[in-house]
Amino acid sequence: MFKSFLIKYGEIGVKGKNRYIFEDALIKQIKYALKKVDGEFAVTKDKGGRIFTEVKSEDYDYDAVITALQHVFGIIAFCPVIHVEDISIDNLRSEIVRYVEKTFEDKEFTFKINTRRAHKSYPMTSMEVDASLGEAVLEAFPGTRVDVHHPEVDIRVEIRDIVHIYSKEIPGAGGMPIGTNGKTMLLLSGGIDSPVAGYMTAKRGVVIDAVYFHAPPYTSDRAKQKVVDLAKLISDYAGPVYLHIINFTDIQLAIYEKCPHDELTIIMRRYMMRIAEHLAKENECLGLVTGESIGQVASQTLQSLYVTDSAVSSMPVYRPLIGMDKQEIVDLSEKIGTYETSILPYEDCCTIFVAKHPVTKPKLEIIERSEKKLDDVIEGLLEEAYATDELVIVGKD
Ligand code: ATP
Ligand code: MG
Repeated sequence: MFKSFLIKYGEIGVKGKNRYIFEDALIKQIKYALKKVDGEFAVTKDKGGRIFTEVKSEDYDYDAVITALQHVFGIIAFCPVIHVEDISIDNLRSEIVRYVEKTFEDKEFTFKINTRRAHKSYPMTSMEVDASLGEAVLEAFPGTRVDVHHPEVDIRVEIRDIVHIYSKEIPGAGGMPIGTNGKTMLLLSGGIDSPVAGYMTAKRGVVIDAVYFHAPPYTSDRAKQKVVDLAKLISDYAGPVYLHIINFTDIQLAIYEKCPHDELTIIMRRYMMRIAEHLAKENECLGLVTGESIGQVASQTLQSLYVTDSAVSSMPVYRPLIGMDKQEIVDLSEKIGTYETSILPYEDCCTIFVAKHPVTKPKLEIIERSEKKLDDVIEGLLEEAYATDELVIVGKD
């Protein structure tokens, strides 16, 4: 019954000349999301800057369209629209009754009809149409009442060559369209946190590249596949994700061999950051993103974050989860659909090399001194690690 969807976007409506860049990015992302849905669609922008998703095929999967649109950042809400071709008032009266019947489960609400005419040639004024259609709804559904000031349901009727009727707003994901705010490098592990951090960054319009450090044979192919799967889930929101997989085993073994064991995690994290920074620069990313939050584990105390951060010299490190409790992160990961994959029980490289009592308040000078023990080998090991870069592109078909 619904032949199009009116897309409502907020933040991006305001930015003068840039508006077109934002709108075009939004249209591109809507098309990307709809590629996975059965049916044929077109995304159009009218003269007033309104964006519609038009249904071109007879049949389509309505629920899948709703889900797809809810994955597009930049959409605040969207309204399913019906198209009426016979625009005579008698037909409109029966169509609006049909519309209310189908759209609202509970027919007890206050409403208002809000008619606009594109061509003033229509034989009735907007107010006359409001009155006539309002009367039809009242007659068909005795539980409804008109309230022109604060209606619970605001039914829009737009008279053009055909008539559009819509009212119901389905909430969207909010945020800004992907591609309007540059690109970052996400340190993506198989855990719960980093996919959520990627989601939150992408929500602000940022393209996501990602890097995963694996340590075969200490970490398995299944652990690696899990990260690829998580990247795929992120790509449903973020568009294609370029995932770099780096073999970290030799660096990890060198640290294990030469550095104090209570400092393993923090030193390992610093090398991950350095490699991520290198990849970020090569791929024109403007920052790193991690899933850290203050105090969650020993390597995320303020002292540890300070020491980790100091390993990165040329770009900011963004930590979108910094102030969130674990439960809030879990809730969000369930909402965005990454939780089930994140909790699959495959080892990550940090769990194998963890010390029983890691330092919780590392001092930068001491860590730097420990890292000096790697001086002879580390340059070569870093070069070797870069050379293992395996690029997996997800979400691009
Ligand atoms: P997550 O749930 O994201 O794994 P975590 O709470 O397990 O986070 P840590 O293991 O201390 O925390 O890792 C902190 C952050 O470092 C992660 O959120 C992620 O951004 C990055 N990270 C950790 N391990 C890896 C890895 N193997 N590959 C890529 N990034 C990693
Ligand atoms: Mg982890």
